[in-house]
Amino acid sequence: MAVDLNVGELVAGARRGEARAVARLISLVEDESPSLRDVSAALAPHTGRAHIVGLTGPPGVGKSTSTSALVTALRAKERRVGVLAVDPTSPFSGGALLGDRVRMQEHATDDDVYIRSMATRGHLGGLAGAAPQALRVLDAAGCDVILVETVGVGQSEVEIAGLADTTLVLVAPGTGDGIQAAKAGILEIGDIFVINKSDREGANTTRRELRNIVAMRESDWKAPIVLTVATTGEGVAEVVTEIERHREYLAGGELDQRRLARVRREIEAMALASLHRRMGDVTGDARLGTLAADVLAGRSDPFAAADLLVEHL
Ligand code: GDP
Repeated sequence: MAVDLNVGELVAGARRGEARAVARLISLVEDESPSLRDVSAALAPHTGRAHIVGLTGPPGVGKSTSTSALVTALRAKERRVGVLAVDPTSPFSGGALLGDRVRMQEHATDDDVYIRSMATRGHLGGLAGAAPQALRVLDAAGCDVILVETVGVGQSEVEIAGLADTTLVLVAPGTGDGIQAAKAGILEIGDIFVINKSDREGANTTRRELRNIVAMRESDWKAPIVLTVATTGEGVAEVVTEIERHREYLAGGELDQRRLARVRREIEAMALASLHRRMGDVTGDARLGTLAADVLAGRSDPFAAADLLVEHL
């Protein structure tokens, strides 16, 4: 196929930092292109350099404003930056999503910033399967830091943390967010806590709440708590400092552990997606009809029938 020929060129283009090649490759991921296997194989040797930073927090807390402010702060340190905004709930292709977001516009003409949004529903096992492929593209393109953010509402916060080396948990002051987040288990995954909108009342109370939670953790890494005002950029440089400090901490051994766990999940998600596809083929299969008829007639039971079905996949 002609697409096979282009894969090498596209990957080479992405490695040279060509934005169009990067965009094309991420589109291949999103579209679940048949050439994705070749893309994945071609990218593999060129990945593992980028520091992946996930941003989580309730809608409206300031994730996208903070992402943009972080890009500015990272660019000030001459880091090449990737931004991947994933929308796990939308079946629609990204492109327009971020185009609508005015805040990102200031970075749109910067050659050292790649911004991309991506819909992951139904693809390659959802967020766990598709997003890592897109991250690999940005990694191979030479991004020093990749910011991953979820767009829209969803229960994907914990999942996003599974993609990242460093997870930022954003909370807003005075809304009881701290307590809510604790309930949702989100606080478990925070490597760095950011109290955004700290221009509002209650930031210090929220900081106290968080401090108590962090103090209870049994970890060598004591998660720092940073106050920010994303709209003005206040405190954002400090967040970058903490991100880099965490990276150094991880380099002591935990980074490999985290990444290994991540790749395990990725392989598992893909294997399950593959099984699902094959199951889908099977539902039209006469064998399933026969097995169902056997169960209904009492000649078999659902457990035995399921075993038989899986054996034949
Ligand atoms: P997201 O849904 O988490 O991505 O939140 P957004 O980044 O879209 O921000 C939601 C709203 O909060 C927007 O109107 C922002 O301008 C505003 N916002 C973000 N950060 C701050 C902040 O630090 N202070 C104040 N006062 N408003 C903020």
